[in-house]
Amino acid sequence: MATNSVYRGIYDTVTLYPKSIPPTVQLVRQKIQAMEAQNRDDAFFVVDLGQIFQKLHTWHRLLPRVRPFYAMKCNSDPEVCRFLARAGVGFDCASQVEMEQILSLGVHPSRIVYANPCKACTHLRYAQERNVDLMTFDDVHELVKIDNYFPDARLLLRIQSSKEHKAKHDFNKKFGCDPDDAPKLLKTARAMGLNVVGVSFHVGSLPEEVDCFASTIREAKGVFTAGNDAGFNMQVLDIGGGFPGVDEVSMTFEKVAETVNTALDKHFPASLGIQIIAEPGRYLVTSAFTVAVNIIAKRVLYFKSGDLNYNMSDERVLYFKSETSPQKKKSASYLSLVSKDSDYVDEESDEGADLDSSVDDVDDDKEDMKNTVCMYYINDGIYGAFNNVFTDHAVIYPELPATPRSSETFTSVVWGPTCDGLDCVLHECQLPDLDVGQWLYFHDMGAYTVSLACAFNGINRPQLFYVCADTYWNEVFSSPEEIALTKLSMASEISTNGKSLSAQSSATISGKGLFEKI
Ligand code: PLP
Repeated sequence: MATNSVYRGIYDTVTLYPKSIPPTVQLVRQKIQAMEAQNRDDAFFVVDLGQIFQKLHTWHRLLPRVRPFYAMKCNSDPEVCRFLARAGVGFDCASQVEMEQILSLGVHPSRIVYANPCKACTHLRYAQERNVDLMTFDDVHELVKIDNYFPDARLLLRIQSSKEHKAKHDFNKKFGCDPDDAPKLLKTARAMGLNVVGVSFHVGSLPEEVDCFASTIREAKGVFTAGNDAGFNMQVLDIGGGFPGVDEVSMTFEKVAETVNTALDKHFPASLGIQIIAEPGRYLVTSAFTVAVNIIAKRVLYFKSGDLNYNMSDERVLYFKSETSPQKKKSASYLSLVSKDSDYVDEESDEGADLDSSVDDVDDDKEDMKNTVCMYYINDGIYGAFNNVFTDHAVIYPELPATPRSSETFTSVVWGPTCDGLDCVLHECQLPDLDVGQWLYFHDMGAYTVSLACAFNGINRPQLFYVCADTYWNEVFSSPEEIALTKLSMASEISTNGKSLSAQSSATISGKGLFEKI
């Protein structure tokens, strides 16, 4: 497969492909072959920056009034952030370290929203020193801190999202002022001489219905009015994150965009000149990341009874109810807890003569593998990239780089590599019979994966290999003048404090100089 060129970035290399970029699956397979040729089996990511470009393009097409400020907590990978910075995106930062990372890319501080309603004083002081002045608050205690450390800051009152709707990650318990309490808090801010410029909210990550956006935008309008009544000049609406990373039947980005546009047109028509921003995280990066892992160990359990269930309280006893193992590729967990008295035997068990008769019976059962559970151990798990399974309700399923020797599938469990019993990537799935040394890969692994990974048990986070279609890359990196214009227009667009931006904006433009062609 011909590649155009490779750019060496400050952190890593990015392989560019002609516009007709091969599908990620082909790139992953190619990389697997290269790894095998080098006798390597380490897990790795293929990161397609072009997919991020396409997501951004769709965003601008479907949500033209809404400026994205990427929620970098979702994936703070340096090349991803650099790419997005060059593409003119703003950033939602939650801490000093995140602000440092983005400012070090030459991004103007006005392209950052410090969107953490509970800020450490030292981080607040840092924001003040670097003039990252747009930030959220939701409580009087935060106002007191802001008054102490950054009284000139431009504040967005974060409200709770509409209680009419649910999300898998509901933030209302932790953050947000009840819209009914907003007028009082706004009056307090006014009395303290602080500068509230707008309202923010987050409908929750992985919301269940698109209407949550409409109802919360409606509630935000009421708080806007309260802010204006309190004497503020309310100018910014921040509609947060929660945009789907991959489309589901009930929740597509197109449906969300349609709902948001309708609600904005109704409550914040363009004629009002309100600046609308958002903090998409998963939307931009989920589909750009594919992780490939190697099977490092295997164990097969044969069952005599066919009454297989799983007992979490004893890791030695693994037994499934056979009727609970349908072809459910996307199944999360179908495990049921029952007594651990069922007949079972570990393939490599050496537990003495009293098991011999069971083993004989099991040999018979081997003919018909219905009562078999295959356990595979892969070289990354929930303490690495797969922590999204644990922390982000991710429903994942593996794909194989090559056609399996038989299409027959068996109930399987996929474990991570650490010695922790919690480290289970797939509690139950149907897989063909696989061998140690074979590869699996998983798509849509960009959100809340690498940025949460740690090296527990000394297992390092998988290496990342970046690819991009050259046309997208060139659009982002080849025209510093255009980038300058984008940055300038964006910076001035969201600036409401009248500070001069042009000097700093032009200083941020370094064009291709950051990437040295090799
Ligand atoms: N903004 C804030 C304040 C958040 O806390 C989060 C996620 O936790 C996001 C944006 C991004 O959410 P998502 O990845 O669902 O778009």
